[in-house]
Amino acid sequence: MGWSITVGRFFGTYVRIHITFLIFLAWIGFAAYQRGGIEAAKQSVAFIVAIFACVVLHEFGHILTARRYGVHSTQVTLLPIGGVADLDKMPEKPYQELLIAIAGPLVNIVIAAILLVVAGAVEGGTLQHIEDPSLGLVEKLAATNLFLALFNMIPAFPMDGGRVLRAVLAMWLGTEKATRIAAQIGQAFALALGFFGLLYGYPILLFIALFVYFAAAGEAQSSFVQQATHEVRVADAMETRVASISRGATIGEAVDILLATSQESFPLVNASGGLDGLLFRDDIVEAVRGGDNNAPVAPFAHREIATLSPEQTLDVALQQLAKAPAVGVVADGRLLGLVTRQSVAEVMLIKSARPDWRFSRGGRAA
Ligand SMILES: [Zn+2]
Repeated sequence: MGWSITVGRFFGTYVRIHITFLIFLAWIGFAAYQRGGIEAAKQSVAFIVAIFACVVLHEFGHILTARRYGVHSTQVTLLPIGGVADLDKMPEKPYQELLIAIAGPLVNIVIAAILLVVAGAVEGGTLQHIEDPSLGLVEKLAATNLFLALFNMIPAFPMDGGRVLRAVLAMWLGTEKATRIAAQIGQAFALALGFFGLLYGYPILLFIALFVYFAAAGEAQSSFVQQATHEVRVADAMETRVASISRGATIGEAVDILLATSQESFPLVNASGGLDGLLFRDDIVEAVRGGDNNAPVAPFAHREIATLSPEQTLDVALQQLAKAPAVGVVADGRLLGLVTRQSVAEVMLIKSARPDWRFSRGGRAA
């Protein structure tokens, strides 16, 4: 996701902040300053930092639960509606997705419970007066955590409640249909929220509605990509007219090939046509920095790379393309072609122009 700033790495997961989250926080801080001057702004900043910490903990509730089921997360992005943990795949069973989704709001409930114990008794009506400056910071934080838990459990995809809904639906309907229905409910909810915000004059609701709407559209889109790529074999989508670089090539020769093609990724092939590694444009540029044109280029190649077999489906390639710009397709020790992000993009273009298009190559009946 673009427009994000990396703040650090915890438990092997990068924590990133989306620019809109910062705008949201700045807006809250500014509003506090206007209302109560520098003291209120200071308190507000402390409060913002505390909420930020709770949202991160919420996300790690998802991430650490997911890890129990072999689903890893390389990064988490904080958005105004919470956060999005970038899970590398869907958990296999719907009940696993349900537990992963519910773990986040549960963290907020646990935090709220602990804070309420710390703060002593809680007065009634705390939830309605989150902006009341006379409330103690701890109680405000507890109330906000309860709000976060409740808000995230609204059954609108892609919020946690939507994921819970999807998981429950998937138990009967299968993942694809469940995703579509959950995304539609999410968008309908976003529209209703937007109307409510307009009618009753809550601009923040409009803001959230826009977010939910586009996030639901994004989720439906990625579900479409997932489904479409699952129907296409690697053999039918791979690039076959690929310039490769031979194992013994010099840096000078590699530069010539780089300039002669529009490729960004080059297979490094040995004398018997086997794939020995991949050279990306940046690697060749890095090799050039060394200064010796006649030095071998092979040491700059990525040697430990995943490969695909032609019979695998393209959705498998999608997971690997998240880590590298290209993946080699190999059968019987020989390189057949490359799958790149562009290959997937082209499949999607054809699919959206002609949903019934049959991808087949090599004389198979269409
Ligand atoms: Zn969550």
